Amino acid sequence: MRVLNFNPGPAALPLPALERARDELLDFAGTGMSVMEHSHRGKDYDAVHTEAILLMRELYGVPDSHEVLFMTGGASQQFAQVPLSFLKPGESADYVVTGAWSQKAFQEGERTARFVGASVRVAADTGVGEGKARSYTRAAGPGEIEADPNAAYLHFTTNETIHGVQFGIDPRRPFPSSKAPLVVDMSSDFLWRKLDVSAFDLVYAGAQKNLGPSGVTLVIASKAFVARGREDLPKILQYRTNASERSLYNTPPTFAIYLVRNVLAWVKSVGGLEEIERLNREKAALLYDCLDRSPEFFRCPVAKDSRSVMNVVFRLPTEALEADLVARAKASGMVGIKGHRSVGGLRVSLYNAIPLDAVEALVALLQAFAKQHG
Ligand SMILES: *Cc1c(COP(=O)(O)O)cnc(C)c1O
Repeated sequence: MRVLNFNPGPAALPLPALERARDELLDFAGTGMSVMEHSHRGKDYDAVHTEAILLMRELYGVPDSHEVLFMTGGASQQFAQVPLSFLKPGESADYVVTGAWSQKAFQEGERTARFVGASVRVAADTGVGEGKARSYTRAAGPGEIEADPNAAYLHFTTNETIHGVQFGIDPRRPFPSSKAPLVVDMSSDFLWRKLDVSAFDLVYAGAQKNLGPSGVTLVIASKAFVARGREDLPKILQYRTNASERSLYNTPPTFAIYLVRNVLAWVKSVGGLEEIERLNREKAALLYDCLDRSPEFFRCPVAKDSRSVMNVVFRLPTEALEADLVARAKASGMVGIKGHRSVGGLRVSLYNAIPLDAVEALVALLQAFAKQHG
């Protein structure tokens, strides 16, 4: 029995992508072995690798100006690899902080910049309160940043997975006052809607939120930006190495990339990003409407225009009720709704693999729970 899995990441994968992996596990494409037992240089694996890249290009409409790369080390390695590659001694980069992940990206940027002899600065920070109690409930507005005209790049996080804060309608050019190349962490914001990703200079996303299993990190980067990266780094840490070797410089995480291929093929089969976006917006509207109908019982801390379509964060009147709801959901076959340990409360993640009827089941449970305890 599979449960309704609202985990934030690693998260639910589309059932057809898993079933395909199951069916092909022992004998991939009539080769008598699993795809993970194939050489990464052989034609059987290469077909999967190439298909994954082409599907990504097709679904997002990635133009020739941009590379599609498979990397490792998660989004967390990108926190360091970006400043290591694109900050030269004496330079500075801008960071927009809107939650826990962008804060972490900034802190790792600080460490790396110190190592390089460069610096990073906070161009905007929407947090309120101090220390552990600091809370994030909204994205940064267009006029809100203090941009450094000479910044090597501007980094922001389009969806804050822990705080449930997402940049609204068009995240592409959110800060007109900055002319710097845009580097974005889209880990939990990836592949759920139509978006012109070529408006960014470098996009990175750990796969395990919406794209596949952990172990592979997707990077979409402009060729011109990649060419600007430092050339005196170890080869393995240069984006250009991945680009020139088609992400086959060393052994890539072949099985993870295979699963990404399955997920991308599934997205295409259900109608591509337009259809996926329509579904995701319907799911999120259903859940937020349910919460908004009982404001005395459910409290959504995030500003309406910054509410995440992927990670819905809310509170109940007491922590005891929150624990009670988590237990009730579990008894009904629904898991993963507990908030992140750093912020508490509840969080429901509605990635692509969550079907509408799973959200309907959760909403029915929430309504019954509010009626009983409200
Ligand atoms: C999950 C997540 C990360 C961390 O990803 P890892 O792959 O574990 O390094 C970074 N940023 C965001 C926005 C995330 O959701």
